[in-house]
Amino acid sequence: MDKINIKKLEVFGNHGVLTEETVLGQKFLVNAVLYTDTRQAGITDDLEQSINYALVCQFITKFMQEHTFKLIEAVAEKLAEAMLCEFNRLESVELEIEKPWAPIRLPLQNVSVQIERSWHKAYIAFGSNMGDKEQYIKQGIEVLKSTRGCEVTKVSDFIHTEPYGGIEQDTFVNGCLELRTLYPPKELLNILNEIEKNAKRERIIHWGPRTLDLDIIFYDHLVLADEELIVPHIDMQNREFVLEPMRQLNPYFRHPVCNLTIEELLNKLKKKK
Ligand code: AMP
Repeated sequence: MDKINIKKLEVFGNHGVLTEETVLGQKFLVNAVLYTDTRQAGITDDLEQSINYALVCQFITKFMQEHTFKLIEAVAEKLAEAMLCEFNRLESVELEIEKPWAPIRLPLQNVSVQIERSWHKAYIAFGSNMGDKEQYIKQGIEVLKSTRGCEVTKVSDFIHTEPYGGIEQDTFVNGCLELRTLYPPKELLNILNEIEKNAKRERIIHWGPRTLDLDIIFYDHLVLADEELIVPHIDMQNREFVLEPMRQLNPYFRHPVCNLTIEELLNKLKKKK
């Protein structure tokens, strides 16, 4: 992706572990690489089609002056999040916070923290088969929409399906949504678990009744597996109630392990039946 580079922006701020640092303040230097598609701006010569770096510099300065953190790790983390939420066209940011005058009484030339943070695209499957099912799902989606660092970009139709897993229970309402998120996979899972808990989901029987079930189906094209989280979802290719709504959202999305598109996975599953 294209880059806009900001180098050595000087900001006087009050960040530091020592009380003197938060009282007296010191100069910090900020380097930022803004990842964005500059193609349209390049063709049209129109600033509206790009990110205004003057506004970004003002934003960084104001943010670092209005907040006080002990660690430059925290300055970088919070500032990256704020920038990604503030500037629409900003897909990813590399941020380096330099603290050349760190008071450590040693002849240090410079110390800095450098991070890279990005928006990610995830697909979440939802399901409910207890109580007011659609209401539980709608509420869950509303919570996700109002979560900072999460943007629900598409929601599939709600479909009504027969229970899965051989347990005698009520029919399900299922669907999928597309999410733009700043959270890494495990933090996203924690957010989803919290939303499930607030919907009073009870996990008494595996595959048993639930007020709200939220699963991560894909996270970018990431492949990850441990005892806590498996992405892509380990059983999604066998679930029509996931593939059908996923097809509505993105039929051409390619499963990074099976190497088949959603459309192909769905056709394969239907043939098996
Ligand atoms: P379930 O009752 O089927 O919703 O299982 C939920 C648990 O499965 C979570 O607490 C996770 O630790 C684990 N899990 C593993 N992979 C995933 C995934 N892709 N999405 C959601 N939960 C997952």
